[in-house]
Amino acid sequence: MTTRTQILVRGIVQGVGFRPYVYSLASRRSLKGRVFNNTAGVVIDVEGEARAIEQFVNEIRSNPPPLSQVEAVECSEHLAPADYHDFRIVESAAAGAKFAPISADIATCEDCLRELFDPRDRRYRYPFINCTNCGPRFTIIEGVPYDRARTTMRDFEMCAACRNEYENPLDRRFHAEPIACSACGPRLFLTDTRRRSIALEPSEDAVNRARRLILDGEIVAIKGLGGFHLACDALNVEAVERLRGRKYREDKPFALMAASVEIVREFCFVSEAEEELLLSERRPIALLERKPESGVPDAVAPGVRTLGFMLPYTPLHYLLLDGLGRPLVMTSGNVSDEPICYEDDDAAQRLNEIADYFLLHNRRIRMRADDSVARAQAGAEMVLRRSRGYAPAPIKTAFGFKHQILACGAELKNTFCLARGNHAFVSHHIGDLENLETLRSFTEGIEHFKRLFDIHPEVVAYDLHPEYLSTKHALALDDIGVRIGVQHHHAHIASCMADNGIEGEVIGVAMDGLGFGEDGRFWGGEFFVADFVRAERLAHLDYIPMPGGAKAIREPWRMAAVYLRRALGDDFLNLDLPFTNNLDRRAWAALRRMASAGVNSPETSSIGRLFDAMASLLGLRNAINYEGQAAIELEAIADKSVANGYEFEIADGGIIKAEAVIRCAVDDLLNGRPASEVSAKFHLAVAQLIAAMACDAQNRRRINRVALSGGVFQNMFLLERARRMLAARGFEVFTHSRTPANDGGVSLGQAAVANARLASGRI
Ligand code: ZN
Ligand code: ZN
Ligand code: FE
Repeated sequence: MTTRTQILVRGIVQGVGFRPYVYSLASRRSLKGRVFNNTAGVVIDVEGEARAIEQFVNEIRSNPPPLSQVEAVECSEHLAPADYHDFRIVESAAAGAKFAPISADIATCEDCLRELFDPRDRRYRYPFINCTNCGPRFTIIEGVPYDRARTTMRDFEMCAACRNEYENPLDRRFHAEPIACSACGPRLFLTDTRRRSIALEPSEDAVNRARRLILDGEIVAIKGLGGFHLACDALNVEAVERLRGRKYREDKPFALMAASVEIVREFCFVSEAEEELLLSERRPIALLERKPESGVPDAVAPGVRTLGFMLPYTPLHYLLLDGLGRPLVMTSGNVSDEPICYEDDDAAQRLNEIADYFLLHNRRIRMRADDSVARAQAGAEMVLRRSRGYAPAPIKTAFGFKHQILACGAELKNTFCLARGNHAFVSHHIGDLENLETLRSFTEGIEHFKRLFDIHPEVVAYDLHPEYLSTKHALALDDIGVRIGVQHHHAHIASCMADNGIEGEVIGVAMDGLGFGEDGRFWGGEFFVADFVRAERLAHLDYIPMPGGAKAIREPWRMAAVYLRRALGDDFLNLDLPFTNNLDRRAWAALRRMASAGVNSPETSSIGRLFDAMASLLGLRNAINYEGQAAIELEAIADKSVANGYEFEIADGGIIKAEAVIRCAVDDLLNGRPASEVSAKFHLAVAQLIAAMACDAQNRRRINRVALSGGVFQNMFLLERARRMLAARGFEVFTHSRTPANDGGVSLGQAAVANARLASGRI
């Protein structure tokens, strides 16, 4: 019996070869009908034998194309017959008020690679080769539904050969929206700093020439997928140092790109999980432990134990690194802390003093997207910067958002989040909201996401810090009636819960830099009993002044001195330690007065500041050049063979005191114990503290689940030990994987909390 059914497939189903897949499936079963994209997903209008349709639907459910993420298959059955006489793929329909998640950018696939290096193929060495399974998506999309006319590829008219492929349902480039070839598509050109095109020798192409320049020690700015890179030879110390100098980036590690996992292995240890991470189609920068004597100059990543490696993810990268046995530095194309350049004119201006040459192309980048950063921990992926290759794929939530929500996120490593239904669209990495350029990408990004996902926020969630630009932005939105402030660390814990798909009460452990507290002080060493609605603070690190405010963050010696004084009184000045011997007494005297009088000395319970103090006490550094540097270096020296740590004291009211920890560390140093041992004992003290506080909370509240969040949990030495100790005591431990533990995850937590508060009537 013939019947007609309409099927709506939701999820990531556009730009991933879904329609051709449906076409061949329908043809095989002799079904008639139509398939098209609309703003809700892929719509299939199908006619045929009832049994064949049933099998057809089952096949879609159980065996969809590899890059798709099907969330729902909804069928409307027994429709009036339309008497189709064939099966066809038809144009996208802009109708339908819903939204369809769009795909992130996808690394070049195997099939395209084969063609790229096949001299008989018409796209041989064409740097913009792509297909239905790979290529740019998010970074070129201007609107929805996803088709060529709504991407920056609309600048290029397809040639006849490309059009044939594009229109042939059996071709692997059928409706590959960014389809292109050397006859019709984007092209590369190489220029000097005055934007004069470099003449190429007859047999040479721009990529080869750029590569030769890099190997000669030059710095080349390369326009990529989501922005510019600055590239140089990673094994050329002089070039790397020159790049550092010109970029005003003193110590922050540079990312590397290598042609293959084998080459990465020459420099780093690569586990199976890490290999998988490197090879994933999202192609993040993977943080890997470096091998001793690896031959990578210190200037690439000073003072840290890891290197950040990624594999090529565009055809241009593949051509550039083809057969190259050494890694290249591929750092984001920006000056200091500004956002990454993505427009040609902007790059020409801002990178002119840094790069010697520019490798450019004429495909516009619509959305800036930095490289993502991830690591494999305990066999699972843990994303530290969620951007290119990940965004804008939504985080699916176990609960539903009852209202459409905008969450503005934090200040550093900002992301925003737009949420509706079961989807939280966490934005790509925006950056530190401290200059106009970043603020602009924040506000424009929000507008872009609102359009793409058809979200009209009725509620805005924000951090309690009155000075965050994200907070100011939220409070200035006149068109949104409901505003919900969410405490920073509650947002961290909620984000970890949403990441893991859990609800209900948890013991929330927030180990962090700084976050504005409900008492107006800066929190960051907090133990809560929390759910999405509320966070009850059970215990926290004792408050200590930060003399000079923000300066105390940039100069960890200030925190070391105030902690030493608290633990040992003014006598600490007489200790025979390098730290005290080198201490600037006059600067300290001024600082002491300031702290005692409470002038410009905000109080904090942040454990991040205690990590800073410890690093400075051990002589690692008195001032930092990037966020978290002192703590990262403290982790890097920690001796993994040490088994027992110092001990924190817990005073009444859940006040955690660090004095004993400081005193024991000082004793160890005076006794000539190495800094590596002291660092390890400190890390273990924090891990033991977490386990002890969790046991205490469990005794009082009968909660067995612990959520760990906050930037300090990027510290693997701490995270691994805390997790092990908690697991040994029978706790169920939740850590971040899909979202960062740092402030990049805060927007998701804000959205979850705002939603729960609204539902419970507790705003
Ligand atoms: Zn491909
Ligand atoms: Zn073409
Ligand atoms: Fe934070």
